[in-house]
Amino acid sequence: AKISANDYRVIKLLGGGSTSRVFQCVARDSVCQHHDIPEVHYAMKIMQITENFDDMDAINNKEPREVKIMSCLKAPCVVSFYQAWITDDDPYFSDNLSCSTENDQSCSTEDDLSSSSEDKYVIILMEHCLRTLRDDLPFGPREINTEESWMLFEEITRAVQCIHHEGIVHRDLKPGNIFFGSNGLVKIADFGHACWATNKIDELKGTPDRGSPMYSGPELKEGQHVTEKADIFSIGVIFFELFYPFKTGHEQRDVLTNLRKDIHPADWKWSGDSVLLKKLTALIPSNRPSTDEILKYIAQRRSSN
Ligand code: ATP
Ligand code: MG
Ligand code: MG
Repeated sequence: AKISANDYRVIKLLGGGSTSRVFQCVARDSVCQHHDIPEVHYAMKIMQITENFDDMDAINNKEPREVKIMSCLKAPCVVSFYQAWITDDDPYFSDNLSCSTENDQSCSTEDDLSSSSEDKYVIILMEHCLRTLRDDLPFGPREINTEESWMLFEEITRAVQCIHHEGIVHRDLKPGNIFFGSNGLVKIADFGHACWATNKIDELKGTPDRGSPMYSGPELKEGQHVTEKADIFSIGVIFFELFYPFKTGHEQRDVLTNLRKDIHPADWKWSGDSVLLKKLTALIPSNRPSTDEILKYIAQRRSSN
């Protein structure tokens, strides 16, 4: 039988961007019994593929790059991928904001990769995570435990090392894309902007302005060839934020924008490591350390403490 969104019951909307919605859902009883699977919760990401979608493969009815990359990244540090399919019908996308626990609407789906130029939807079924790093870094006063921040940064670096060793550059690392799994471990998600480090040409369509402006390396904006060092800039910004509570979104924007210009305000009350921060956020990508080098630095710091 064909898989369809209708095999799943939507619990609630988890979030979404301009072209996607992510729902918490659970397989319907009949599906669980038939396949003898437990009633676990999933995250279902529904992406609308329009002419403006930046992945040419998806527009040309080929497997979307996000799906290709997720399905080859099977590691504990990446949000687990279960299934993906394409449908012509909008199962939950447009009326999602009112989705409730009782949502029981049915819909028909087709997994027809060769369908026409009409809009279509890619559905990705993945592991449901409970929170993101964004939830741990709220605006306002926040107590900073220096050693905990270092441990978290080390874990994030390990997760990024794991995807870099698989030859993937994420290009959109930011607190909202770093999740914690049910075991509390860091899990990287949202491979919508990811690419293979070996690709000399960018197979993505449109402008080179990808990722979140506050977290992405300056080379992403300039349309230069991107290497895994783009992700190092992003985790450098995250490194800073782990040790620095922003009072407001406005302050966050100001300070992080300055960081991108290599301006480090002198009056930072900052318990992090300014030498490492400077290296991570170096404007020239090749001056940034690799994940291996960062981990070595952290280990040295620990043994000298
Ligand atoms: P953006 O590019 O703006 O970051 P997006 O459209 O690429 O967003 P995702 O980042 O994949 O979409 O997901 C959007 C939001 O949905 C996340 O920020 C998160 O709140 C929620 N979400 C996504 N995946 C999961 C998951 N596996 N478990 C729990 N929540 C999730
Ligand atoms: Mg995201
Ligand atoms: Mg995204």
